[in-house]
Amino acid sequence: MTTVRTAIIAGNWKMNLGPQQASRFVAEILPELGKIVQQHSHIMSILCPPAISLAAVHQVMQSVPTPGVELGAQNMYFEDKGAFTGEIAPGMVKELCSAVILGHSERRGYFHETDELVNKKVHAALHYDLLPIVCIGENTDQYESGETQAVIKAQVEQSLAGLNEEQAGKIVIAYEPIWAIGTGKAASATEAGHVIHLIRHIYAEIYGDTAAQAIRILYGGSVTSANIGEFIAHPDIDGGLIGGASIKSDFVEIVRKSA
Ligand code: PGA
Repeated sequence: MTTVRTAIIAGNWKMNLGPQQASRFVAEILPELGKIVQQHSHIMSILCPPAISLAAVHQVMQSVPTPGVELGAQNMYFEDKGAFTGEIAPGMVKELCSAVILGHSERRGYFHETDELVNKKVHAALHYDLLPIVCIGENTDQYESGETQAVIKAQVEQSLAGLNEEQAGKIVIAYEPIWAIGTGKAASATEAGHVIHLIRHIYAEIYGDTAAQAIRILYGGSVTSANIGEFIAHPDIDGGLIGGASIKSDFVEIVRKSA
């Protein structure tokens, strides 16, 4: 790592833990999580519960002061307000959160989100001073047919188009190969590090070296406390986006092992 970047361990709870369970869980993990991140200023953690549980988790986080543990949404729309039934506006997210996951492969796959839509959301997030965690990654077929590089390049170019110089240095990218998500079959740290290195290179070609060195690029896909050590030790990997293990006490172990 040529620049010192604060590592991020983010928990994507997906469609798990409603308000009651979410408050219980966060009250359980927060004291220890808070202690770890306070002792290690080079790491931060972002909890991303389902939208309906954000307020409940926010309330618990207010009562246990934990600098270094932030709240994030899993998705949002890009318009400010209006007739968009079921959607959540960036300003609403900003009332409770400091970050938002955008373009997760489940959003892209099940809800047909395109790079163009993700790009609009990225701009909206930055406009509202939310930290966008933009997910990219190839699927099994693309992986097996050697298309990873081309897929990644197109996703970076299109999802992250049109940023100004200041914005370009702020974002977070999560490299999540779809074949590794929820499968227990994580990429090796070498493999993930290689693609992440490539992502930074592609990003540098668009936005220059300074921005490319500043952004955090995480790995996601079957990360647990058993394998986080390998990823975090890799100089190109700035942390993890954790799914399944983020709603278990293992999440605290993952953060501990990353510190
Ligand atoms: P997983 O999910 O850790 O359960 O593989 C990662 C993600 O989808 O963000």
